[in-house]
Amino acid sequence: MKVQSISILGSTGSIGRQTLDVAEHLGLKIAALTANENVDRMAEQARKYRPKLCVMGSEQAAEALRMRISDLFIPVKCGMEGLMEAATIREADVVVTAVMGMIGLRPTLAAIHAKKRIGLANKETLVCAGELVMDAADRYGAEIVPVDSEHSAIFQCLMGCRDRSEIKRLILTASGGPFYGKKFEEMETITKEDALRHPNWTMGPKITVDSATMMNKGLEVIEAMRLYRLPKSQVDVVVHRQSIVHSLVEFRDGAILAQLGVPDMRIPIQLALTYPNRMDAPCAALDLLSCGELTFLPPDPVNFPCLAYAVEAAQRGGTACAIMNGANEAAVDLFLHDRIGFNDIPRRVRRAMDTVAVVDRPGLEDILAADRLARDSVYAG
Ligand code: MG
Repeated sequence: MKVQSISILGSTGSIGRQTLDVAEHLGLKIAALTANENVDRMAEQARKYRPKLCVMGSEQAAEALRMRISDLFIPVKCGMEGLMEAATIREADVVVTAVMGMIGLRPTLAAIHAKKRIGLANKETLVCAGELVMDAADRYGAEIVPVDSEHSAIFQCLMGCRDRSEIKRLILTASGGPFYGKKFEEMETITKEDALRHPNWTMGPKITVDSATMMNKGLEVIEAMRLYRLPKSQVDVVVHRQSIVHSLVEFRDGAILAQLGVPDMRIPIQLALTYPNRMDAPCAALDLLSCGELTFLPPDPVNFPCLAYAVEAAQRGGTACAIMNGANEAAVDLFLHDRIGFNDIPRRVRRAMDTVAVVDRPGLEDILAADRLARDSVYAG
C-alpha cells in the first residue's frame, strides 16, 4: 500500500505533533485531525495542514474552533461521533491512534472495520481489549503497525520471520524511569514535578507518570502479548537505562536480534507510515561511537508494584486488564491533580483489582463496564 493520506486521532499531543512532522517530511496529506480541548494548537494545525475534518472533545471546544477557523471552511465535529468519523474518513489510508487512554478503543475498532492501516500509538486499547482488536484486524484484513518504540522494535526484528514458532521470547527494554534503584518507601513523597522529569524521552504527562511507576512497562508487556499472541512466559523485561536498544527478539536457535536508534519517536512513527519500505531518516541517526556504554539490568517489581500488577492482570485475563488499566488512568489523573500521592497510584490500582469482579470472555460492553467500575472505585477515594 502506498500511503497518501492519514488521519491522526490526538493530533495536539506529543505523538500527534511528531506524526504531523513526519507526514510533512514524507509529503502526505492530512485527512482528519482530532484533539480533546487544545483549541489554540488545533487552530494552528488546521491552518497549516488543511485537513478535511477537525474533531474536538466537547461541543464547547468545537464551537471555539469553528470561530477561529471559519475562513477555512473545514467541518468541525465533536465527541465520540466525531472521533468515529475521523477514524473512518474515506480519504485516510492510515489512522494513527495517538489519543490517550481507553477513549481510543471504539474509534480503533471502527478504523479496523473500515480496513484502514492502524498506526497504533494508543496502548490502552490493546491492553483492555487486545483479543477483540486483534481478532477484528484479522477478520477485516486491517494491518496494525505499532508506533510504541519497543513494539516497533519487535515488529522490525520480526520483519524477516515467516514462522512465529521460531520465536523463543520477546525482550522489552525499559528505561526504568527517573526512580529506578529507589525503594518503595523512598517514593512516598515524590511530587508531580519529580515524576514528570523523564531522563530520556519527552512524552505526554500520563505516559511519563506511567514510566515513573513502571506501569508503562507493565502495559507494554500486555501490549506485546496481544500484538504477537504470545503468553507471558515468552515476554520478558530488562532495564536498559540508555534507551538506545528499543527491544529484542530471541529465537529458538539462541540468536537475538535487536533494534537500536536514538530515542526519537519520529523513527517508529515514520515506519508505521511507510512500511514495508524505509525512507530517509526524519531525525539524526544514532552514532555508535558517541552513544556510550549500553547496560542491562533486572526489573524491580517489588519496589515498582505496578509492573507486577499488570503482569498479574495479563495472566488473569478476561476484564482484569481493563480493570487494572482503568484504575491506573484514574489514579494517575488524581496524582496529576495533586489529589493523591505517588505511592497511592499502585495502592488504588491494587484495591480496584481486589474489589471489581472480573468477567471472563468479555465483549466490548463488558470491557467498557469494567473500565467504568474500576475508575469509580478509584475516584470514590
Ligand atoms: Mg514505549
